[in-house]
Amino acid sequence: MGLKVLGFRGGVHPFHRKESTQDKAVERMQAPRLVYIPLQQHIGAPCEPLVKPGDRVKLGQKIGQPKGFVGAPIHASVSGVVKDIKQMPHPTMGQGIAIVLENDGKDELDESIVPRDIEALDVDELKGLIFEAGIVGMGGAAFPTHVKLSPPKDKKIDVVILNGAECEPYLTADHRLMLENPQDVVDGLKAIMKVLGVERGYIAIEDNKPDAIRTIAEATASMPGVEVVRLRTKYPQGAEKQLIYAVTGRQVPSGGLPMDVGVVVNNVGTAAAIARAIKTGIPLIERIVTVTGGGVAQPKNLSVRIGTLFKDVIDACGGLVGQPAKVVSGGPMMGIAQYTLEVPVIKGTSGILVLTKQEAETPDPGPCIRCGKCVDACPMRLMPLFISVYSLKGDYDNSEKLHAMDCIECGCCSYICPAKRPLVQSIRTAKRVITERKRRAAGAK
Ligand code: SF4
Ligand code: SF4
Repeated sequence: MGLKVLGFRGGVHPFHRKESTQDKAVERMQAPRLVYIPLQQHIGAPCEPLVKPGDRVKLGQKIGQPKGFVGAPIHASVSGVVKDIKQMPHPTMGQGIAIVLENDGKDELDESIVPRDIEALDVDELKGLIFEAGIVGMGGAAFPTHVKLSPPKDKKIDVVILNGAECEPYLTADHRLMLENPQDVVDGLKAIMKVLGVERGYIAIEDNKPDAIRTIAEATASMPGVEVVRLRTKYPQGAEKQLIYAVTGRQVPSGGLPMDVGVVVNNVGTAAAIARAIKTGIPLIERIVTVTGGGVAQPKNLSVRIGTLFKDVIDACGGLVGQPAKVVSGGPMMGIAQYTLEVPVIKGTSGILVLTKQEAETPDPGPCIRCGKCVDACPMRLMPLFISVYSLKGDYDNSEKLHAMDCIECGCCSYICPAKRPLVQSIRTAKRVITERKRRAAGAK
């Protein structure tokens, strides 16, 4: 393929470990007897429940309504009965309220589910449909998509990028989606471009997925203004700012958003979810999850109902091999370690990694040897060693002066550090404290 290979400065080349699932077609997991659907699966305030214990629900029925504009409704991923509404483990927030549904095995569709035609819908109808379907960023960030598609009037958007980089090691869900359902990805892009009134669209894929590049290029061949771009295989090639720079040469300013440079980025999985919600009428109740790592018997790409416990997903992959050392929701670089398997798959769950002791091993940190590798690797051109030292001393003012808030928490610095310093962890702490201080200061005014 003759496409130019695009990239950015910094980053790392971690092991890929994608071999065990990259050639495995997505299997649809049978819905379990009980699903646990958290009221919070997006950035923003949690939803209000619309049902109570004892109620009957149908598949796709709205069961949670967001409180503000920044939020997305949640829907029943099975038909059956509401058993409980209770506090339980949450994969990204530690704890949260979830609606527990007992599956009746009938998959009886809710009456609200009506297939539509993308071409026949106007912009407001499309936007309303995307909101009602509960679509959020499926690459892990879980930002409500209708908000991304409603930029303020003074921000003129002229480019849409679909992120198909999937640069995190182990994960292959997006890769399989692009191979197996290219039309959904393309139709989703069409809908997003229509909503934003944009004529230029890119689908950006790392060059370690030549089959996906070929498949998507074929699917977009007759689409005017749409181009498939090949990205250098390098982590974090899929981070928004790095992706925008690689594709358009535009630099998102410090503290800015993609819309400040006229760009909206969506994950390929998000685009496909939009297309499916329009074409079938079924809201976001299921997603592809890569289940892998040396601690799982049969690594797979599984299409899983939202609310399925990790434990049930792992059982559908032949169960555990021995005692896992670490279980991560997402990829190994930006994912979140879990303390229990009794935690549900949510809209942003791209992978479940079950790591053995050998895979999870991190040596004890040593003193910084001032090699500068972390500075070279940082895609945001920060000085991780100094920001981290200040944070570890509790000197958050100096961490902030060194632009801690620009850190995208990619983990490249920690990955590359020969002394295994807790760089990203300490910078994350600094960001949390700085944000909290600003919030309090704003509240005091
Ligand atoms: S400082 Fe932040 S942005 Fe830079 S490499 Fe470390 S985690 Fe990534
Ligand atoms: S990579 Fe590690 S050892 Fe090298 S300068 Fe950065 S913190 Fe120090």
